[in-house]
Amino acid sequence: MQGRLRDQQLSVDIETVCAHCARPMHLTADSELRFRVHDPTAHPLVFSPQVDWATFEEPNITHAF
Ligand SMILES: [Zn+2]
Repeated sequence: MQGRLRDQQLSVDIETVCAHCARPMHLTADSELRFRVHDPTAHPLVFSPQVDWATFEEPNITHAF
């Protein structure tokens, strides 16, 4: 989201754990809302909000949802 708001190519690494079994997970998300899951056996549910940036006027992304 930051990449879209700033019109830059950004990516973020997310290291977290499964809320169910506490197994570590490592994801990478980029400005095009593509996600890469580093562990091929992990299948996390990833929410990618669809935002019309041309008409987006909220002060931040949280306000839109
Ligand atoms: Zn799990």
